[in-house]
Amino acid sequence: ILTGAWSNRPSKSRERKRQAERLAELEINGDIKEGIEGCIGRTPLIKIKSLSDATGCEILAKAEFLNGAGNSPKDRVAISIIELAEEQGLLIPHSGDTVYEGTVGSTGISLAAICRARGYKAHICMPDDVAIEKSDLLLKLGAEVERVRPAPIVDQKQFVNLARTRAVEHTADPEKKGRGLFADQFETDANWRAHFTGTGPEIFNQTAGYLDAFVAGAGTGGTISGVALYLKQRLPYLRVVLADPPGSGLYNRVKYGVMFDSKEREGTRRRHQVDTVVEGIGINRQTRNFEVGRALIDDAIRVNDDQAKAMARWLVEHDGIFVGSSSAVNCVAATKLANSLGPGHRIVTILCDSGARHLSKFWANTEPVGGAEDDVDLDDILNA
Ligand code: PMP
Repeated sequence: ILTGAWSNRPSKSRERKRQAERLAELEINGDIKEGIEGCIGRTPLIKIKSLSDATGCEILAKAEFLNGAGNSPKDRVAISIIELAEEQGLLIPHSGDTVYEGTVGSTGISLAAICRARGYKAHICMPDDVAIEKSDLLLKLGAEVERVRPAPIVDQKQFVNLARTRAVEHTADPEKKGRGLFADQFETDANWRAHFTGTGPEIFNQTAGYLDAFVAGAGTGGTISGVALYLKQRLPYLRVVLADPPGSGLYNRVKYGVMFDSKEREGTRRRHQVDTVVEGIGINRQTRNFEVGRALIDDAIRVNDDQAKAMARWLVEHDGIFVGSSSAVNCVAATKLANSLGPGHRIVTILCDSGARHLSKFWANTEPVGGAEDDVDLDDILNA
């Protein structure tokens, strides 16, 4: 006969039942993820308090750097490309199949991580002026990395063209195992669709459909197009605004329908180069992923490097948020838009990646945050 504490002990079967209930609860709450692929999407929407207080608008940022495979929105795109290729029988795990991609980093990092998880190899071609920590990270993930001189898209050595060529060479080479798949983030519909089915609906649900504007930069254009295509069908009066760095042709494409104005057309031997330290956004050619949503983009805002750098410091100083260059550009544009719309509006933008990816370039040669140079007015940043 059991007495005292022992008599209150749950029976084995009751204990098991409770355990099963706890596990089920965890699964419902989404606390257990199916590998790193399960950590992609459902990112938080963060109210940036300092910018909201300063503008009287609610400035909300989708924390895409919290995607758990490659820590950027490109996780969504990479898994979308790989799953489509698997469905089409173009990729078979552990067969030597290799994914080739031309990228300034984020897409490569997402692909490299997911390829590891799925039994593929990754081969990444990137410009050699991109922050070195991105290629270091790719090498640690076991990807093959080719860094090439920046070149115009008509050059076969341009990083995107090179990746396409390498994929074809792989498939044709009898010495190589498996096949080569060119991921093709700039042209594939799997890119914008990942944002149409993921990022867009998540923003709609997280805001309960109460939002006035969406602001984002564009590299491939997949994010802004996919989100705009989803949100505008539910919210026809939503304003979609492009944030664009200097030298990028997308600003003119949105404003005037052409990539280059007459002045830029004249003296632009180097017009393939976007004149900025900002990585991942701004481009001088038309891509399928930008064009598919372009008609839904209402306006464009230029953001220069000084503004982006000052905003990145501001976000650390006031909110403890440490981001990379494209996220800072987005936040400048969102704040400018807030000031032009006036108080009481709700604006959503994207935080793409962490400042840790940009220590050697965008964040290089800066004093620790918190010093005298951070004692600036937000208006000074916006007008820099
Ligand atoms: N931010 C970063 C850091 C990126 O690498 C990219 C994509 N190259 C973007 C923003 C832009 O996203 P998208 O390609 O969907 O336009």
